[in-house]
Amino acid sequence: MHTPITQLTAQSNIETGELIKSIELWNEAYRNGEPLVSDDLFDTYITELETRDPAHPLLTAITPSVTESLDYQHSTPMLSTDKVYTQEELGLWFDKVIKAAQTVGIQDPLVECSPKLDGLAGRLYLDGALVTRGSGTAGTDIRHLLQAGLKVLGDTSRELTGEIVVNREYFAENLSLHFANERSFISGMAGATNGLNQHFTKALQDGAVHLVSFADLTTKAAMPLSTLRGVAESVEEMQLTNNPYLLDGVVFAVVDPQVREIMGTASDHNRYEVAKKRKGETAETTITEITWQVGRDGKQNPVLTFEEVSLSGVNITRCTAHHAGNVLESGLGVGARVEIIRSGEVVPNLHAVCTPVEPSMPAQCACCGHELKWKAGGVARGFKPTYLVCHNSGCDSRKASRLLHHLDTIKVLNFGLKTVDRLVHGGFDHIESLYEMDKFDLVAMGFGEGQSTRLIESFNSVRNSPIDDNLVVASLGIDDLGRRAAKKLLKHFRLEEMPYLTIAQIAALEGFGETSGYTISMGLYQNKQLLEFLIHDAGLNIQHTQDEQPIEVAQDSYFKGLNVVFTGTCKLSRSEMGNHAASQGANVLKDISGKKADYLVCGAKVGAKKMQKATAAGVKVITQDEYFDLCGNGGY
Ligand SMILES: [Zn+2]
Repeated sequence: MHTPITQLTAQSNIETGELIKSIELWNEAYRNGEPLVSDDLFDTYITELETRDPAHPLLTAITPSVTESLDYQHSTPMLSTDKVYTQEELGLWFDKVIKAAQTVGIQDPLVECSPKLDGLAGRLYLDGALVTRGSGTAGTDIRHLLQAGLKVLGDTSRELTGEIVVNREYFAENLSLHFANERSFISGMAGATNGLNQHFTKALQDGAVHLVSFADLTTKAAMPLSTLRGVAESVEEMQLTNNPYLLDGVVFAVVDPQVREIMGTASDHNRYEVAKKRKGETAETTITEITWQVGRDGKQNPVLTFEEVSLSGVNITRCTAHHAGNVLESGLGVGARVEIIRSGEVVPNLHAVCTPVEPSMPAQCACCGHELKWKAGGVARGFKPTYLVCHNSGCDSRKASRLLHHLDTIKVLNFGLKTVDRLVHGGFDHIESLYEMDKFDLVAMGFGEGQSTRLIESFNSVRNSPIDDNLVVASLGIDDLGRRAAKKLLKHFRLEEMPYLTIAQIAALEGFGETSGYTISMGLYQNKQLLEFLIHDAGLNIQHTQDEQPIEVAQDSYFKGLNVVFTGTCKLSRSEMGNHAASQGANVLKDISGKKADYLVCGAKVGAKKMQKATAAGVKVITQDEYFDLCGNGGY
């Protein structure tokens, strides 16, 4: 007899493997803004895991996923790969390739197939930084893993993009008792901010953890598309067997650069490649209930509860149905038969509706009972009615979600939905009021002494650190104005100008249109007072994009276009030296091996051997004073 995990009260009865899987699942759902369980239940499971395995990487991985500092800007965005699940979907992609190829006169384009490694994507830069994909435009620098023994498989003389993975056999023998799977091992290692535990250190030292370059994969098979169509399934099967790493499918990619260019790039993926995911586990079940959770803008978000199914070893009873429009159009309601899929991703998804029913749409807000109105979706939905929205500005759920969004965005930790609910009930129900709250207010609302102190401390630590202006804008919770859009706007306008931007001014910028221009312009104007409060009266230390000085390259610089390596102790820090060299138009390399260096600039304490090696390799060795002399500003 299997007990549904979401109904367990005595979590101590649960197997460790299942405990870990539940936490991963819930954490992922929470991060996607669709919590599946209460904070309380989640916390109980975390506490249980802490007792059983204090060193478990999930315990460190869970907080960094929220606090993760995306501080390294990618040179070009790291895109993700679009996914297909069936041969039919793959066939449709093949059709698109043929169509694109024919426009450049190629009848039968070459397509290659390679294994899709299931780890953590990362890019190795020439300055030595190893950066996670992060948001796609910026990630976290985890170069310390290289020093700890992470092996790079591929050509490091240029920027290298690949996947961080662990050898399967090694994992099975040495790590499988401690980690749920290879993937959780890798993400735990990358997210361990308080130093690496013994398992990570040992695996790295044993040379079992690799960064595998996509460009240098040796098992690629390329063939004309006409041939591939007939044998795609067996090609896929071949790629999936005998690989030393965990895989979650294969990648098909167009080889011909001309065809690649024609197919181009969508916002977050290249159209010339597609991942065929290993068929995920699906299960059919019956919906027993639809519950509606209220989002920050009053949107009612449907969550399906269904008869328990087991997918990849996890018992699942709930998943999101995304939006009200989906419930209406798909005929979701109690008694509907649905197919749930869980493939690679941790979060289960509604895959298909087998037997629809008369949809049960709510008329009133799940929180305040206010009448609901339909709101149109974006371009992708063809502006069809998509969301059911509560417009009652006094709605407690709306207020709480809005506060939580603000706190999450400016990275104040320790405030969960439950905490914020209590604040709203305690009268701290708008963003401005949070900034006037002190410890005694929290105690008066019934929070414990210790928790009150922690909450205020995490609030103050954010106020005392520099905060990017784009976070302040994104924290307002305006539709179509997330962090990415805010960044773009702030490149052109100052924070203070935001409330006065016209639709035309916004629509004129790349990546915006009339519709988003309208939503953003209206939203900013409506939030004028709040924004002014955050700028002037909230005590935030805001860093303005417009104040950042672009690096101006000196025109007739001696070092323009030359490759320079810095070594030893210099007058300036290594990053300041790097910036200086960049301002001279030089490329800064991490060492003299690999890409050909022109100059080795030595500070104090440089070994004679290193200098000899450089001279032997034809690299000119100079002192830092000589460097500054050549730059024309000696005694910098
Ligand atoms: Zn409401």
